[in-house]
Amino acid sequence: MKHYAYYIDSPTEEVHEAECPNMPAANKINLGTHATAVKAVKAAISKGYTNANGCDHCCSGAHKK
Ligand SMILES: [Zn+2]
Repeated sequence: MKHYAYYIDSPTEEVHEAECPNMPAANKINLGTHATAVKAVKAAISKGYTNANGCDHCCSGAHKK
């Protein structure tokens, strides 16, 4: 399975794949590489981003809101 690098937009706690066009230019925190967006969101939560949510463009499988 291919792993992608994920980032979280720190002010909004939205998680993006590295190649997402909606990736913010600033305030992004590297979450490392994960097999799925759901795992990336869980990793973000474990880092203290308790409202972490997948971007509806690139991480629809992890988009909750
Ligand atoms: Zn995105």
